[in-house]
Amino acid sequence: MSAITRMKATFLNPKFSPLFPHLPKTKYASFAHLSRITESFIYNNPIRFPSNLSGKSTLFLSNSFICSSQNRNLQMEASRPPSGEIHVIVGPMFAGKTTTLLRRIQLESSNGRSVAIIKSSKDTRYGLDSVVTHDGMKFPCWALKNLSSFRQKFGLEAYEQLDVIGIDEAQFFEDLYDFCRETADHDGKTVIVAGLDGNYLRKKFGSVLDIIPLADSVTKLTASCEICGKRAFFTLRKTEETQVELIGGADVYMPVCRHHYVSGQVAVEAARHVLESQKLECGSCT
Ligand SMILES: [Zn+2]
Repeated sequence: MSAITRMKATFLNPKFSPLFPHLPKTKYASFAHLSRITESFIYNNPIRFPSNLSGKSTLFLSNSFICSSQNRNLQMEASRPPSGEIHVIVGPMFAGKTTTLLRRIQLESSNGRSVAIIKSSKDTRYGLDSVVTHDGMKFPCWALKNLSSFRQKFGLEAYEQLDVIGIDEAQFFEDLYDFCRETADHDGKTVIVAGLDGNYLRKKFGSVLDIIPLADSVTKLTASCEICGKRAFFTLRKTEETQVELIGGADVYMPVCRHHYVSGQVAVEAARHVLESQKLECGSCT
């Protein structure tokens, strides 16, 4: 029995009849009739179609159905905007997130795609006109307070021509979720997002984790523990400041492994207590 004959036999098996309520159970209809019924069934009941038949369904159908559905698909494709994508790069500080973002953007650009990079205007460490990695790689960028202003500032016509948008330090953008959803779902752009997943307390930082359900891919990078050289997953703040957003580099933060995060956090907490008690003592002296 050939594969298609076997599938026809499966298709006509009365045990599938609950899926095809139009079918007479005792008397088989002609194959062309079945095709029309199946076409209507697939379009009206896309989710209920059984997984063991999905993807192979056109094999059951007549040539006229295959051609008409192909034409319909082509028409739908022509009227549909290009499909967007969202890729997320996370990890601790000094893990190479910005470097990975810039490499991906450069690759897209060398493939002839139009690209732009956005970073937060909160981070002024390397100036506002470019994204710079810790190892000195540089790329021009748009420094913005929020992402919703990008379309207007970039220019609507230029935005239409844009293929790829890179977002660096994404944890600083409160409107990250809505921006990514709209640009990928509705405008067909590829969005590559790099940012911290957690803060120095290993708690969610900004909205980066919120966009993971929207993403095509998620890459978690690691750094090297500054103390032992093993893989570092976390960022330890070396100073006594306690506010969540404290922008700084190696003077304030260090990447650490789990063991040295825990011991380092204990040491920093102890140092903080000593400093606070010294401040109190000084306060009572004056
Ligand atoms: Zn370590």
